[in-house]
Amino acid sequence: MMGQDHVGRVRERALRAFAREYGGEATWAAAAPGRVNLIGEHTDYNAGWVLPIAIDRVCVAAAAPAADRSVTRVYSDDLRQRFSCDMRRDVRPGVDVPIGSWPSYVLGVLAECEIARQIGNLDIVIASSVPLGSGLSSSASVEVAVATMLEQAIGASMGVLEKAMRCQRAEHAFAGVPCGIMDMLTSAAGRADHALLIDCESCTWRPVPLPKDVAIVVFNSNVRHSLAGGEYARRRDACEAAASKLGLSSLRAARGEMLDDRLTDEELRCARHVITENQRTLAAAAAMERGDVSTLGTLFAASHASLRDDYRVSCRELDMLVESAAGEEGVIGARMTGGGFGGCVVAVVARGMEVRVMERVLSSYRSRSGREGMAFAVRAVDGAGAV
Ligand code: ADP
Ligand code: MG
Repeated sequence: MMGQDHVGRVRERALRAFAREYGGEATWAAAAPGRVNLIGEHTDYNAGWVLPIAIDRVCVAAAAPAADRSVTRVYSDDLRQRFSCDMRRDVRPGVDVPIGSWPSYVLGVLAECEIARQIGNLDIVIASSVPLGSGLSSSASVEVAVATMLEQAIGASMGVLEKAMRCQRAEHAFAGVPCGIMDMLTSAAGRADHALLIDCESCTWRPVPLPKDVAIVVFNSNVRHSLAGGEYARRRDACEAAASKLGLSSLRAARGEMLDDRLTDEELRCARHVITENQRTLAAAAAMERGDVSTLGTLFAASHASLRDDYRVSCRELDMLVESAAGEEGVIGARMTGGGFGGCVVAVVARGMEVRVMERVLSSYRSRSGREGMAFAVRAVDGAGAV
């Protein structure tokens, strides 16, 4: 990733913070991108397909062997907070570091990567240009940046999938988030100018070229409704219950004609979303491959409607952003992205129209919701690497 503009600035900030905090130079530095999912929402934990891109917003982890060998120190330049812990013994989530606290994302990776033991305690700085907690996966970018820094420190690669799986284990055990593999895998394996079609059952993926002449724009609603966590768990449970009533290990193999009155209304709607969303994701990858942007736009609209009406994870603000975007010249398609109940909308826009579209959608969002949104264009970039 070295030499790329979006990395350079964050790297400089991380290195400056390192010198200020610890009074020396970092020995290693690695960058890992955030991601935005183009389509395939709530399909990852149903062993289905997703189609994300790694974006030009990154977390940089810079580190050196600890000045005081008996303790690992971590500093977040974004939160301006510190944490320390001796990593030479077994670090327990919830005992040595609070579950879900920001340092848990860093220390969890050190704990899940045995190679960290060979290096001993570290002085670490993280700095990031991924907005925190907006559904662009700042959490995975922290984890993958730290894991990639460790690879650099020992001079050997763990392999992209192995690295992503260790980061996922860290997020489960230390952050307390039962996430799928998409975020970590995209951050580790992203490819410039491509999306990744990830099969979440086999954990295999292939790059799919983004159509020429389109830009990807992210709109942040700047709301996060508190029901997100509980509702996420409830949808997961409904999907599991539906699969088990249908005699399947996951909803991946479910078909529309299997859905009948064995399922409750909620289970039926959830299963129908997963079935149709998997079909849309595969169709979107195929449409991208043949440069068929109008089909892509139709699939985005259908995905949003299914998330709103069947899966019921949208909210007023996300619907407003999507409706505002849909009426705008130059917008090919728009849908909510991420878990839902706030967070972001992703739009495919005719290249050259981005600035105008962003201004007009934000202004319409402002007058309809009374809120300030945020918008930025993103590019698809390569996955994590030493910088
Ligand atoms: P998302 O991954 O969509 O941004 P999450 O809730 O999964 O949202 O992860 C956000 C959390 O990750 C933050 O609340 C914080 O604990 C941690 N985090 C991410 N980036 C940083 C950072 N630069 N410094 C400190 N903590 C971070
Ligand atoms: Mg996250």
